Order: sequence, then structure tokens, then C-alpha cells
Amino acid sequence: MAGDVMPDDPEQLRKELERYRLVVTELQGKISTLENEIATAATMAEIPAVVVTQPELRQTLSRLISKIAMILQAEKVLTLLYQADTGHLSVLPPALGITEEQISELLVTSDTGVSGKVFNSGEAIIYNDAINHPDTDKEIISLLRVRNGLCVPLSIQQRDEDERVTGKKTIGVLHVMNKRFEQEFGTDDQRLAEMLGDQAAAVIANAQVFREVQKAKEQLEGAFESISAGVVVVGQAGDIRLMNHAARRMLNFSPDGSLAGKKLADITDSRELLDRFDKALQANGAETASEVTGPGDGRIYQSQFTLMRSAEGEPPSVVAIFNDITEIRQIERMKSTFVSTVSHELRTPLTSIKGFITTLMDDTEEMYDIETRQEFYEIINSECDRLTRLITDLLNVSRIEAGRGIELHLGAVSINEIVASVAENQRAATNKHRIIDAMPDQMPSIVADADKVYQILENIVSNAIRYSPEGGDITITGEDEGETIKLSVSDQGIGIPPEHRDKIFHRFHKVPTDEGDHGAVKGTGIGLYLVQHLARAHGEKAEVWLENSEIGKGSTFSFRLPKEPSVERS
Ligand code: ADP
Repeated sequence: MAGDVMPDDPEQLRKELERYRLVVTELQGKISTLENEIATAATMAEIPAVVVTQPELRQTLSRLISKIAMILQAEKVLTLLYQADTGHLSVLPPALGITEEQISELLVTSDTGVSGKVFNSGEAIIYNDAINHPDTDKEIISLLRVRNGLCVPLSIQQRDEDERVTGKKTIGVLHVMNKRFEQEFGTDDQRLAEMLGDQAAAVIANAQVFREVQKAKEQLEGAFESISAGVVVVGQAGDIRLMNHAARRMLNFSPDGSLAGKKLADITDSRELLDRFDKALQANGAETASEVTGPGDGRIYQSQFTLMRSAEGEPPSVVAIFNDITEIRQIERMKSTFVSTVSHELRTPLTSIKGFITTLMDDTEEMYDIETRQEFYEIINSECDRLTRLITDLLNVSRIEAGRGIELHLGAVSINEIVASVAENQRAATNKHRIIDAMPDQMPSIVADADKVYQILENIVSNAIRYSPEGGDITITGEDEGETIKLSVSDQGIGIPPEHRDKIFHRFHKVPTDEGDHGAVKGTGIGLYLVQHLARAHGEKAEVWLENSEIGKGSTFSFRLPKEPSVERS
């Protein structure tokens, strides 16, 4: 056949070749149009309209990028996202046809090159013959080996509350590079790339929204878990919907135990608590508050139960908030004990003073000899001192409570003299104890408030006497520590139980004794609290502490004062 015979005329051969080339080009065009149609249809159908998660974003983008490459017959596709903190356009993986190494060297600023121009104008640029194109960054072009390219903006639509489109925001750019068969990109490619770019932008924006929502959720959960109040949300059927860490502790429920399918009644049998939830459900929205005992930890909670109605008409649930008020209640109890102890402590010396004065007044015939009278006067005098001390202590406590510090009157103080004087005075108060002044002879004198130092030591020694009802030795020792001096008072008394050792310096705290109020050692619970404040008023290095204690064997209290206090002299 003539058609099958190769023409031997070279001119005819050339014409024949040209015809074939035209046919192939036409076929290629048809194939690619067909590919485009299939791919566009598939892409459109697959772009999710809903929010996507981070791993989904990568997958979806990866699919989208492969399609972009196929539709536009490109070898390389690159997505760049604007980073507000650095002002750069950074690569959003995955990128097609570009190595990790090339990506790591890529630095694209948002105000230069093709990317910058497209990002800022929101208009696409076709940059065929990239190395000679006026807008391209030549370094990037040679790094990525770009022949021809097309860059479109990644834009998202901005909408108002009624979902009306109010404008466009560019979040980055999409590059499609090196069309196959050495061809150049044209306006059809641009139109298609813009459409696909919008879809990519929507996917990315969705993922960003998802991340933000996720972050806000995590922050809320973090706050919910860390608040000190216990919070429990229980549904109408008693099902636990939410419960934070503090509430788990209160109910003694494992910190990471699953709540799925759990009812409140499954984790607590506290009738008190279950009833309160029931009542709150029936209270028809009214807030109910009451004090409850934590079934898991036995602490006292101020609770608030509120009915929470759901907007979507779901059955209501109850939100309960529990605030731990154990300490407040304890202080209140201590305060009322304190008031009655103080009244008692005030009345005792007054009764005694009145008794002796009346006796003396009635003694018109001078039945009592001069020594006995003198003894009465001494008792009255020491009872008056006791009253003054108590009142000074009370005034000091109220000064501290009011946030006003303790005023110091600084001067040179001889520690040896103070110890000797406290020891002598306290000896007069007991005949059961030996008060031993075991101080080194020449303790250095310090700058301090002499009255306050006296008060600190007197308080500790008087405690040592009172809390050694069987008598024994009370030994005062001292040590020159360089910048500070340290004094210690040891007794052979009742000792302090370990669980009270931290608390004895708290105001009103007294170690309960078995003997009941009458047999127990009398005290107001403010002595050591004051001692600590009196010492601390002498500067940072001043401190009082319980050195050691053993039940039935005795205790040692120590305090340290600076030789030169870091406080202003008055
Ligand atoms: P109080 O007026 O009750 O003695 P303090 O504040 O001086 O108040 O002491 C607080 C509590 O510390 C006392 O109630 C007592 O239980 C305990 N305490 C203090 N000193 C001693 C001590 N030397 N031995 C045993 N217990 C002590």
C-alpha cells in the first residue's frame, strides 16, 4: 500500500513527520484535557468541607498536590505558608519533586521574589523561562532547578456572622513548576491552579481552625483540672459527665480512672452527697449551697449545686463545686477556744488580785504579820505582771494580724545577762524544776531589742516548765555562730507528737491533751506564734525552731539571732 511505503523523497519525509507531530500533540492535548476533567471532578468531590486534623491535613494535602501535579502536568509542586512571627513564607510539607535538602536551604521572605509579589498582591504570576523572568529570585530558581513556573495565591474567603463573604485573605502561595514535555504554563493552567489553590487554602485554614479549637480545649481542660475547687457534672440519670482532679481526690477516685459509663452512685455511697445531687435536680434551677464532708478524704467542703440546662433541649445536668474549708473551720474552732481560754486566763489573776486585796482591806485589825502581808503584795504584783504580759501578747498578735510589723528598739544586748535574768525569774515560778544556765561565759553582745529577746527566751523557758509537769532539768545553752548567735532550751517534759511539730508555731495551735480542760496545761496557743514573729522581726537570719522532741522524754527549742540585724535602727 502506498501509505505504508516510506517516501524516499526527503522533502516528503519531512512533511510526513510534521503531520505525525501534529497528531501526537493533538492527542496529548486530548489526553490531558481528559485527565484534567477526571482529576478535577475527583478533587472537587474529595475536598472535605469539615475541619481536618493535623495528620489528615498532611494526607489530604498530599493527595491534592499529586492531583495538582497530574492536572497541570507539573514535576514540582510547593506550598508556602505565611508565618506572622518571622515574616517568612515557609514550606508546608509535603512538597512534590523537591528534596528535603533543598527545602532546608529554602528561605523565602514575604516581600521579595515571585512568592512575595503573589502573596502581597493576591494575583497569580506565570514565570516561564524562570531564570530570565524579572520577578524571580535567581538563587531559588537554580536551587530548585526551575525551568517554567506558575505561582498562585492561597486565599481563603472571609465571612461575616451571616456567612456573607466579606473579602479574601491570602495565607500563602502555591508554586507549580516545570510542565512536562518542556512546555510552558499558560492562562488555562493558571485558572486551574487558582481553583486548586483555593481548595488547598480551605483545607489548610480548616486544619488551623481545628488546631486552635484543639488548643483552646486543652487550655480549658488544663484550667479545669488544676483549679483547687472540686468540680463534678452529673447528668439526670446520675451519670458522671465531668470530674476534675480535686473532685476525684475528694471522692477517693483514682486520678486517671475512666469515667465512661460511671454513675456517681458507683464511686461513692455517701448518702449526703447523692441526696444533694438529687435535690439540685429537683430544685428547678435554684442554687443550693451547703457544707458536706468529702467521703474520700473526710475534709469539710462548702458546696454549691446548680442545675445546668442545655440549650439544645437535652436533659439537664447538675454542676457541683466543692471548696475545701477545713482549715477555715479549724481556725474558727481554735478562735472560739482561744476566746474562752483568754477570758479564763484574764479572770484567774484578777480573781487572785481581788482576793488578796479584799483580804488586806478587811484586815483592819492587822491580823496578818508584815511578812505575810509582803507575800500578798508580791503575789498581787506578779499577778499584775502576768496580766500585763497576756495583754501585751494579745496586742502584739493583733498588730501582726493587722499586717503591722513588730516595732524594734535596737541597742546593745548582753545575751549572758538576758539568760541569767530569765533563768532567775523563772526559778521563782517553779520548785519542781532545775533551771540550768549552761551558757558560755563570754557570749558576744548583739544588736537587738532587749525586751523582745527577753520575751522570746522567757516564753520558751516558761513552756519548758509548763510542759514538764513532772519537773526535771531545763538547760539553756548558747553558741556563737559567727554572724549569728544560737540559744537552745532543753527540757525533760512531755514532748511533742510528730504530727504537731509543724503546727505548734501556728497561732492558737495547742497539742490536745487527754486529761481534758481541767487537768491539761493551760495555754492560749499564741506563745510560739509570737516568739516566731518577735525573732523574725530581727531580720532574715533570725529564726526559731523545734530542734528535737521525743514523747515522754522532752524537747529542745532553739532560736538564732543576727549579731547585727538587717533592719533599721529605731
Ligand atoms: P501555749 O500558750 O498553748 O503554750 P504556745 O504557742 O506557747 O501556746 O505553744 C503551742 C503548743 O506547743 C502548746 O500548746 C504545746 O502543746 C506545745 N509546746 C510548746 N512548748 C512545748 C514544750 N516545751 N514541750 C511540749 N510541748 C510544747
